[in-house]
Amino acid sequence: MPTTLYDNHGRPITYLRLAVTDRCNLRCFYCMPAEGIPYLPKQALLTYEEMERLVHVLAGMGITKVRITGGEPFVRKDLMYFLRRLKQIKGIEEVHITTNGVLTAPHIAQLKAIGIASVNLSLDTLDGERFRQITRRDEYGKVMHCLEQLLVHNIPVKINTVVMEGQNTKDIIPLAELTRTAPVSVRFIEEMPFNGEGNHYPVLVWTHDKIMQVLRQQYPNLQKISDKSHDTAYHYQVPGYAGTVGVIAAFSRTFCGSCNRIRITAQGTLKTCLYDGGVLDLKQLLRSRATDELIAEAFLRAFRHRAKDGFEAESRSRRTPVHESMSTIGG
Ligand code: SAM
Ligand code: SF4
Repeated sequence: MPTTLYDNHGRPITYLRLAVTDRCNLRCFYCMPAEGIPYLPKQALLTYEEMERLVHVLAGMGITKVRITGGEPFVRKDLMYFLRRLKQIKGIEEVHITTNGVLTAPHIAQLKAIGIASVNLSLDTLDGERFRQITRRDEYGKVMHCLEQLLVHNIPVKINTVVMEGQNTKDIIPLAELTRTAPVSVRFIEEMPFNGEGNHYPVLVWTHDKIMQVLRQQYPNLQKISDKSHDTAYHYQVPGYAGTVGVIAAFSRTFCGSCNRIRITAQGTLKTCLYDGGVLDLKQLLRSRATDELIAEAFLRAFRHRAKDGFEAESRSRRTPVHESMSTIGG
């Protein structure tokens, strides 16, 4: 058993979020501009073999949980092949996926068969027209079908909803109502400044507190339930409901003190904080024929210089977050 590594602030590092592509079939306006982002050429993306090697090295350093994200993971060819390989890496106990659900349904039986631990489904509204306005694509039916199929196959599901002023605040209660009968966790996320536009970012109106006000007004008996250690969401339940609701203060950054996660972007950049500008070029290391030991040492150095929180990471970074699209980071 590898010993867990701790960063320079005493936080264990056990969770990797791995973006397998920067490409996406939706254009959610909080994530990327209408015309999309300039995609990286294929050779600038890590290959599956390179990703597998990095996960193998990290598993030897105490990483036990991997989340596959993107861009849209199912847009990348042969994703199921890669997931099967990941599941075989010794030390990796859980593989999770975050998806927009457009291409996911046909793969759900297989996801179940290979033992994917859970699926996070991004769904900002239960109204087809609002879905089209937010994602700039007409794919609502496919996403709802994906949700149904995940439930039918008994795969643990979390719904990720970015709450946006003037867009989907009317959906907070209908989405929370899904938890009345479905054993899902609906998590409302503060909008973050990663829209790839590089210019404007409004003041955040829909903060954690404001989202909670809406929930408490509708459900005065809403109960706080326990959060798992290192969870970024604060969880609640309406007594008698099958599922739970959560709020993720992604912009206010109240959870940094217990952050156990690192990220590898689609082009192989290590981020030890969502808000840093990238702290290590793993692709260059891999392609310069570095040994596993050298790669592990580079990871260790990065973990020992981790920013205390998202504010410090942002101030150390040369770029402001708005220049980046969440699609290249992976959320
Ligand atoms: N395409 C997949 C999806 O949408 O689920 C995976 C990648 S997406 C970048 C991962 C998560 O980041 C999604 O749940 C999405 O809602 C969230 N996200 C993207 N841009 C965001 C932003 N500006 N603020 C908050 N969350 C954001
Ligand atoms: Fe695509 Fe996900 Fe970004 Fe939406 S949030 S544009 S689905 S990567």
